[in-house]
Amino acid sequence: MTTKRPKTRGIAILGSTGSIGTTALRVIERQRERFHVAALTAFNNAALLDAQAERFAPAFVGLVSNGAEPHGPPWCVGPECLVEAVNRDDVDIVLNAVVGAAGLDATLAALARGKRVALANKETLVMAGPLVAAACEAGGGEIVPVDSEHSAILQCMAGRPGVDVRRVIITASGGPFREWSAEQLSAATLEDALQHPTWRMGRKITVDSATLANKALEVIEAHFLFGVPYDQIEVVVHPQSIIHSFVEFVDGSVLAQLGVPSMELPILYALTYPERVVDSGVPAFNPLACSPLTFERVAVERFPAFALGVQAGRTGGVAPAVFNAANEAAVALFLKGRIRFNDISVAIAAALDELGTGPGDTREAILRGDHAARRNVEERFGC
Ligand code: NAD
Ligand code: MG
Repeated sequence: MTTKRPKTRGIAILGSTGSIGTTALRVIERQRERFHVAALTAFNNAALLDAQAERFAPAFVGLVSNGAEPHGPPWCVGPECLVEAVNRDDVDIVLNAVVGAAGLDATLAALARGKRVALANKETLVMAGPLVAAACEAGGGEIVPVDSEHSAILQCMAGRPGVDVRRVIITASGGPFREWSAEQLSAATLEDALQHPTWRMGRKITVDSATLANKALEVIEAHFLFGVPYDQIEVVVHPQSIIHSFVEFVDGSVLAQLGVPSMELPILYALTYPERVVDSGVPAFNPLACSPLTFERVAVERFPAFALGVQAGRTGGVAPAVFNAANEAAVALFLKGRIRFNDISVAIAAALDELGTGPGDTREAILRGDHAARRNVEERFGC
């Protein structure tokens, strides 16, 4: 007797050539009984995308940036390839691993079509939280976080109504400059900022981890994902990155999720949630090797981008979009060697000051705030 093979779920990976994208392909390769790659997209690394397409044979391949060699089907070239990939009937789950605001329309489209979005692209939830919530509501889609802290929170909360939660405590590694003085920070170079102590990631998020802008993005992300008020979200520095976050419940019980720093598990869990499956790629946990686990307060005075971002979240409206866009624009300049490390938070503060009030509940208002913030940063530094 032959047993019928169960249908595997189709996944679109947006940003397949990046750090999250390539890790996700390793996860999916081990889970071929459950998933297949239905679509891949990348910005401009055509050579790697081609190799991935060869290996995984997706029905759709999208390259955002023109100028590459002409490709025939199943290739689609141009920025519209993200939404095209998402809208395909053979795509059940969208792993959005694009960096930055460019991922917004794809997230909205997937949710509007009732799909699961495994979300690494936190910037789009930060800039457009209410819009993303409305798209979920209207289309019946769902967001499952890939970010390790939010995956931890989800795992701690699983099966518990949100009202039971008293506090969410997000952990932060503290980044490469955790122990640097204000004076040292004023001379920090790009090379210094790219030396993350516990995680290997793309360049933009690595810089965000050095300024702690990443942690502010994650506070806002947690607020929108779990509906927790800002007064109930705290951040603690935990340099070992073993505890990925805590949830404290109303009875005083505190749950945490632990693991060796690796994105394999959060990516896998975002695909299989609420189920857990066997996977050989998740590193083994050894408490003795992780000892000791330590905690520190966030040095807000040395990392102004953190407080600016959290305040933007609290202000709401267009402020989170302005915060995110100013940060993206400033980090891009820092990565090109055009501005200094401390200029990143100066740029964010100025953009928020000038543009950070007003409504942010329509796509137009959000994009207007986003574009104005980018222009503001570029003009400030004469670009
Ligand atoms: P990365 O720079 O390594 O990869 C980014 C991917 O997005 C690449 O495939 C690139 O081709 C694509 N891309 C870039 N610009 C694009 C554009 N304008 N349009 C379409 N595609 C574009 O970044 P990463 O480290 O993989 O991070 C991706 C996202 O995941 C970010 O939002 C980041 O904050 C989040 N995240 C990453 C990690 C990690 O461990 N790397 C952890 C948590 C969250
Ligand atoms: Mg994170």
